[in-house]
Amino acid sequence: MQIQAAVLNTPQGQLEIETLELEAPRELEIRVRLVATGVCHTDISVMGRPFPVSQPIVLGHEGTGIVESIGSAVTKVKVGDRVVLSYNFCGECPSCQRHAPSYCHYFFGHNFLGQRRDGSTALSRQGQPVRHNFFGQSSFATHCLCSENNAVKVPDSVPNEVFELLGPLGCGIQTGAGAVINVLKPQMGESFVVFGAGAVGLAGLMAAKAIGAAVLIAVDKVPERLTLATDLGATHTVLADGQTDVVARIREITGGGAQCSLDTTAVSVVLRQALDCLGSLGRCGFVGGAPLGTTLEVDVRDMMLNGKTLRGIVEGDANADAFIPDLIRMQAQGSFPFEKLMKIYPFDAIDQAIKDAKSGVTVKPVLRMPA
Ligand SMILES: [Zn+2]
Ligand SMILES: [Zn+2]
Repeated sequence: MQIQAAVLNTPQGQLEIETLELEAPRELEIRVRLVATGVCHTDISVMGRPFPVSQPIVLGHEGTGIVESIGSAVTKVKVGDRVVLSYNFCGECPSCQRHAPSYCHYFFGHNFLGQRRDGSTALSRQGQPVRHNFFGQSSFATHCLCSENNAVKVPDSVPNEVFELLGPLGCGIQTGAGAVINVLKPQMGESFVVFGAGAVGLAGLMAAKAIGAAVLIAVDKVPERLTLATDLGATHTVLADGQTDVVARIREITGGGAQCSLDTTAVSVVLRQALDCLGSLGRCGFVGGAPLGTTLEVDVRDMMLNGKTLRGIVEGDANADAFIPDLIRMQAQGSFPFEKLMKIYPFDAIDQAIKDAKSGVTVKPVLRMPA
C-alpha cells in the first residue's frame, strides 16, 4: 500500500515527506495506522550522526495507532486494537529470557539497522528499498509495521484524547519514569536530583514525586524548563549557568548529598556532577545516548568509601507490556501528568517540531498524523 512518511535521505539532511510503498505484514508482523508519534532526542541524535544509520530511512519511534492488518501467526493483537509502540527486542536471548528486554543482546540490530533480520526492508520508493523498522516501527509515517514484541495494547478505558498522547510512553517517558521506579527507587522522604529537565528528566521527576521522594531537585541551563519542573513538583531548582557550583548547591539543599540522581544529558561533566552530588550510599543512574567513545572519569576513592552506585539504564529497565499500562493508570489518577510535557503538531510541521525540541521551546512534540 502507499503511505506518507518523513524520509531521511542523506546524513545530517532534512526530513522530506514522501509517498512510499509499504509491504503487507509478514507472518509475525503487524501493520499499524499511526494516529500520532512523539519526537525523541534519539531521532534527532541519529540525524546528527552520533549513532549512524544508513539512508534512506524512516525514523520515528514513539508511535501510537490502530492495528489495521496482522500476519497469520500474530496472536497478541487483533485488527482494530489500539496500540502503543515501544522498542524492539528478540525475545529469545539470555536478557530477553530474564525479562530484561531493554538489554537484548540484539538490541542494536532490532532498533537501529533499519531492516528485518533477513536484511529485507518493507518500505520502497519506485522499486528502490527505503530502510524501515527503526526501533521496530519507523513511525514518522501514516502507517508502519511492528512486531508482537513491541506493540503494547492500550486498555479500552483510555479516552481518545489521551490515547493520541501515549506514543512517548514507548520511549522517552518510559525511560525517565522507569529509571526512577524500576532502578533508582527513591524511598519515602528521600532526595532525588535530575540533571536535564527535558521530557525524560521531567518524567523521572514526576515519577519520583509519585512514589514519595520528598526533596526533588531539577538542574538545567534553561530557566523556562526549571519553571516547568517546579510546576510538576520540583521542590528546588538549580540553574546550570556556568557560574553556580551545582554540586555544592545540591549538597547544601540536601544537607550533605542526595540519595538518588539521574543524568539525562549524556554529557560527561554533567554525569560527573550527578555522581559527585550524592551522599553516602547514593545511587546515580544515566540514560542519555552519548556519542560513541564517550568516557567518564570517576573519583574511585569517593565512589568506594561512600558506597556510591553508578548504573547505565536503557528504556527505564521497563517491560513495556506491564509498565506502560501502569503509567497510564498513574496519569488517570493524576499522579503522573505526562500530558503537561506535550504539544501537538500536524505531521507536515515535523521540521518545526524537531526545531522546537532541539531549542527546548517544546519539551515533547507529538506529531498528529493525517486521518
Ligand atoms: Zn533479546
Ligand atoms: Zn527514544
